[in-house]
Amino acid sequence: MPRIVIDNRQIEVEPGATILDAARRLGIAIPTLCHFAGHPPATSCMVCVVRVNGEERLVPACATKVADGMLVESETDDVREARRAALELLLSDHVGDCEAPCRSACPAHMDIPQMIRHIAAGNLPDAIRTVKQYIALPAVLGRICPAPCEKACRRGAVDKPVSICLLKRYAADTDSESGRPYLPTCSRRTGRKVAIIGAGPAGLAAAWYLLQDGHSCTIFDDRSKPGGMLRDIDDGRLPAAVLDAEIDAIMRLGADYKRRRRVGREIAFDEIRAAFDAVLIAAGQLQKADAAVFGVEYAEKGLRVDRHTLQTSTAGVFAAGSAVVPSHLAVRAAADGRAAAIAISQYLSGAEVTGEPRAFSIHAGRLGDAELVCFAADAVAEDRMEPAGGAAAGFAADEAFREASRCLHCDCRKKDACALRDHACEYDARPGAHKGERRDFAHDASHPAVIYEPGKCISCGICVRITAAAKEPLGLTFIGRGFGVRVAVPFGRSLADGLQTAARECVAACPTGALAFKNGARAPSSGKD
Ligand code: SF4
Ligand code: SF4
Ligand code: SF4
Repeated sequence: MPRIVIDNRQIEVEPGATILDAARRLGIAIPTLCHFAGHPPATSCMVCVVRVNGEERLVPACATKVADGMLVESETDDVREARRAALELLLSDHVGDCEAPCRSACPAHMDIPQMIRHIAAGNLPDAIRTVKQYIALPAVLGRICPAPCEKACRRGAVDKPVSICLLKRYAADTDSESGRPYLPTCSRRTGRKVAIIGAGPAGLAAAWYLLQDGHSCTIFDDRSKPGGMLRDIDDGRLPAAVLDAEIDAIMRLGADYKRRRRVGREIAFDEIRAAFDAVLIAAGQLQKADAAVFGVEYAEKGLRVDRHTLQTSTAGVFAAGSAVVPSHLAVRAAADGRAAAIAISQYLSGAEVTGEPRAFSIHAGRLGDAELVCFAADAVAEDRMEPAGGAAAGFAADEAFREASRCLHCDCRKKDACALRDHACEYDARPGAHKGERRDFAHDASHPAVIYEPGKCISCGICVRITAAAKEPLGLTFIGRGFGVRVAVPFGRSLADGLQTAARECVAACPTGALAFKNGARAPSSGKD
């Protein structure tokens, strides 16, 4: 039996085994896309390359048989670089959006299409749960947010954007008026204490998420009531009762509000630092002189922080919102508050403070007219709904339902189960590394359950092998050559003709969203998004 060493770990494997087999036995993860267990290697994706002693070039682990005495390295810099290059090549003409354009444009990164699916399904509890996972004050923002998401909404290129902001407000108002507004379950108390300086949107949002992580939160503010600058909106858009109701939920979750306590006047910053395990400065816009009281570095326009973790130069002290970069956008401040909460929780747990994990996302960008017609082929023809009672009244239930049905659901059906996306994230692949023409968006929706999007196909051939093994009368095959090779049903026939028995198996094995179930990640049932 040949013995080999992978990353300094020895293993004995049966003759004929591949490096990939041996690595998997050792629990060493080597990425693959075109590998399909039980079938001959395709070596088309080249993301499984490793370094073998004595070999000048990197070799594909899926196709290289072990030999006695082989020394393999699976994580060297050149291996990582080669994998990244292979992924960037695959992404160079990819046509898809991992996340919908509206979500990418939302400063809080709220899962808008998922919220809309819940509303369309009449599932308001899961709609508000989805919203509040990203936005702590949705009824407030539903009234004052300038809705950058709607400017990016793809439906806007068809007729008018989906009324996302009013839909969010509808979910929030319905929840608020239910008599039993949503309160999330909090983790077990950690015994760690966080001081939040400032009760505006950044501070309140941070408290909402820190409390859910089990930390206690004390908010210091010089006003008598929490809300910060939101209390100064006096043009009638934001009734005080709406603000009070959403703040009440944060207080019921356990926040302690210390009113009329201005740091540097009624209470010293050092006193707060000594009494708490972490501090978040969310005190709104600060001039350099005001900032001195916190003893942290000041940059050009606000406190100096790491832009991703929001940590200041002092350990355990974080800053968010306009205290860092002045902005009139409450949604930006609220998003910052959530980002700070994630970093503070990492700090309090003793983990490395890295902030929210960055997800890889590719964007199809603006679709051409013909592509748009194809993309929106099944869209309902309704005009954008204007609330019968006027914008101030918001949507009634039937209006919200009809507006929700206008959404094109632009996010990828396999966004949570795409190996290409996972590997691209792990290897930090840049989607725009190779400039060039991208393919046109197209899809084949002729099959009753499965949809094929050739723009997301990486020509791994797994589906071709499956349909051949399943003896599909037509199946799928490669068409064209070289970089232009594509997978299609032979003779120009439809997907419904090609996949008569093996559709489910092909969807399960396809490493991307090219073959997906029509409702895919879009089933509006879980609420655990
Ligand atoms: S197939 Fe994968 S990489 Fe492509 S859009 Fe879907 S999730 Fe993103
Ligand atoms: S159509 Fe729906 S999913 Fe697409 S961008 Fe607009 S709101 Fe988002
Ligand atoms: S459609 Fe087939 S060839 Fe294309 S990525 Fe999916 S499994 Fe691979």
